[in-house]
Amino acid sequence: MATIELRDVTKDFGGVQVIHGANLSVQDNEFVVFVGPSGCGKSTLLRLLSGLEELSSGEIYIDGERIDHLPPARRGLAMVFQSYALYPHMNVFQNMSYALKVAKKSKQEIEEKVHAAAEILQLTELLDRKPKALSGGQRQRVAIGRAIVRDPSVFLFDEPLSNLDAKLRVQMRLELTNLHKQLQSTMIYVTHDQVEAMTMADKIVVMRAGNIEQVGPPLELFNKPANKFVAGFIGSPA
Ligand code: ADP
Ligand code: MG
Repeated sequence: MATIELRDVTKDFGGVQVIHGANLSVQDNEFVVFVGPSGCGKSTLLRLLSGLEELSSGEIYIDGERIDHLPPARRGLAMVFQSYALYPHMNVFQNMSYALKVAKKSKQEIEEKVHAAAEILQLTELLDRKPKALSGGQRQRVAIGRAIVRDPSVFLFDEPLSNLDAKLRVQMRLELTNLHKQLQSTMIYVTHDQVEAMTMADKIVVMRAGNIEQVGPPLELFNKPANKFVAGFIGSPA
């Protein structure tokens, strides 16, 4: 279970502000999609949440506890990158178990967690394979598996499907939606793809140039875009 609260979050890089005071509430078990053009600050917001970047000002809470001063490993979040971030010299089992090994989990716990995740992701037959012997979709499932084994309270996805072909993207969208139902965890998903946002989200966060323009369920944004930008980006003609 996890709720997330951003309060007046800003981020500067070298004196240039790229996030201008973001406020957002995410409910437990929500699938939230951040959408907006390239460079609007989607990845930066995710990196602030995960602790890969430090806030310039503002606060972040998970389940009411302030976490923006905690190191990444203590925030209970797991970030899923594009599939090419797999370790090429390790097989699927080793890729999925690596974080647990680093965390000094017992061999038995590692085995159980990896096999349970492999089952969910249909990777059980592929645990001995190296990434180069996998399809793009299988690699992406391994990248997700590495997050699942850590039992995070929140999953963060940064354009995880952007280097897959169109057909596979459609399939993976459905798989991720199913995964969300199965795991019952809060998911934050970043994309510049409006179709992904409209089809996957419980709630969409539309960003432009470091600002959150509108937050709401897909149909609400489509039917009642707050401004021309949102209308042009995902809404019906305003
Ligand atoms: P998006 O993910 O929406 O494409 P980003 O969050 O990557 O956008 O970037 C938002 C803005 O912040 C861009 O103008 C980008 O150039 C800038 N930016 C991102 N990371 C850095 C960094 N480490 N140093 C300086 N500028 C950065
Ligand atoms: Mg990005």
